[in-house]
Amino acid sequence: MKGKAVQVPVAKNEEVVVDIVGLTHEGEGVGRADGFTLFIQGALPGERVRAKVLKLKKTYGYAKLQELLVASPDRVDAPCAIYKQCGGCQLQHLSYKAQLAWKRQHVVDNLERIGKLRVAGSGEGAADDAVVVHPTLGMSEPWRYRNKASVPMGMAATVTGGDGDGLVSPERLIGGFYARGSHRIIDMDECMIQHSRNDEIVARVKEIGRELGITAYNEETGRGLLRHVMVRVGFVSGEAMIVLITNGERIPQVERWIERIREAIPGVTGIVQNVNTRDTNVIFGDKTRVLWGSEVIYDELEGIRFAISARSFYQVNPVQTVELYRRAVEYAALSGGERVIDAYCGIGTISLFLARAAGHVYGVEIVPEAIEDAKRNAELNGITNASFEAGLAEVVIPRWRREGIVADVIVVDPPRKGCDEALLETILAMRPERVVYVSCNPSTLARDLRVLEDGGYRTVEVQPVDMFPHTVHVECTVLLKWRES
Ligand code: SAH
Repeated sequence: MKGKAVQVPVAKNEEVVVDIVGLTHEGEGVGRADGFTLFIQGALPGERVRAKVLKLKKTYGYAKLQELLVASPDRVDAPCAIYKQCGGCQLQHLSYKAQLAWKRQHVVDNLERIGKLRVAGSGEGAADDAVVVHPTLGMSEPWRYRNKASVPMGMAATVTGGDGDGLVSPERLIGGFYARGSHRIIDMDECMIQHSRNDEIVARVKEIGRELGITAYNEETGRGLLRHVMVRVGFVSGEAMIVLITNGERIPQVERWIERIREAIPGVTGIVQNVNTRDTNVIFGDKTRVLWGSEVIYDELEGIRFAISARSFYQVNPVQTVELYRRAVEYAALSGGERVIDAYCGIGTISLFLARAAGHVYGVEIVPEAIEDAKRNAELNGITNASFEAGLAEVVIPRWRREGIVADVIVVDPPRKGCDEALLETILAMRPERVVYVSCNPSTLARDLRVLEDGGYRTVEVQPVDMFPHTVHVECTVLLKWRES
């Protein structure tokens, strides 16, 4: 190949001294060795490390941290014993304060690089209309915050007979997490970011499964029954739902299974089965049925009650969700008569927060069960000025527009891939005075903000919220205003 050949100054397996200059969006240290970029898991900005080169590509490589020569003042000991193996958290070795600062900077970098936006306070000559990015809103107690656990199940033999007779027990049911970068399941009973009730419930379900000789699904052979155990607990209500995701319809001794769960785990209000027989990493299959109890759990956010069914999206960190939604409502700046569209509404959480201050809220969401929940939730709270429709936001909202439903404010809260282009075009055509963009992915957020900016909106302010402490994820609420208003 012609063109400038990049000199690779390091060799595979070589040990090199590297200065760490940044952190990738996956939490790896970005190092420079003789100007060449090396990604190093576990290294932090400002550090100097000795690392062994593992893998080389043309313009960058990966290296393994061997020794810290100069440690960052922000480095802390990760409190979780399985942090290195697990990979579920990526930032436990960085102080919480520094995590929050890094998350804000990560948002700023995306807005500048991808969104081509000017951020107030960064760089020269920030103009009046520069975007204000607030400090990340953190948690005062950033542990045990998750209300939902989805635990993959597997089988493993254990060596018994402590006096060295080396008896290998038959394979038994285990469940925990996939070892970093693999699909090998490691048994685990405690996760420090999980609500302790979820940990207890999963541990009990595993014990009972073992007693009853339940087998776990094996991805390679396609055999075995139990794929995942999902548990969701209501932080306010204390209610809990167990979902057994199975490879097939029939659960042996299902009555006994239910009875044992009910005896052993008080407070469980529903046991649900979801059937997934496909060869896929996607957790849920299409078929869900209630084995016992209620098909939903109830929970409460700021005095609004929500019914949540197994397949519906519900934010995993309820403490921070309230903060996030408060900002969304504040940015919507409603005075009582507005028509508001809530795109990607899930079970209507943001919609119902907004409805308290709006004329009417129209919610749209792709998962039909979530829309059923949303309708039930409006009723549950006596809210009559919110209506919901199942469908693709990018299809339903243009149709609403043709039918004369024009919003004063549009709120969008899309999944990681961001908004569909057709939806952005509809927003530009509908031209609401305000757009509130709730995002869980700064890069697609920045991409979409550029489209809205080019169409005549101004990004006014961004509030990063730490919904997922100790992980690299960051959520943002963003206010955009129509320039000419
Ligand atoms: N606003 C809700 C849900 C946000 S998560 C809350 O805060 O709880 C994003 C939601 O978008 C999910 O419920 C997902 O099912 C839904 N979704 C994904 N793609 C969609 C699309 N193209 N149209 C409508 N909804 C979609």
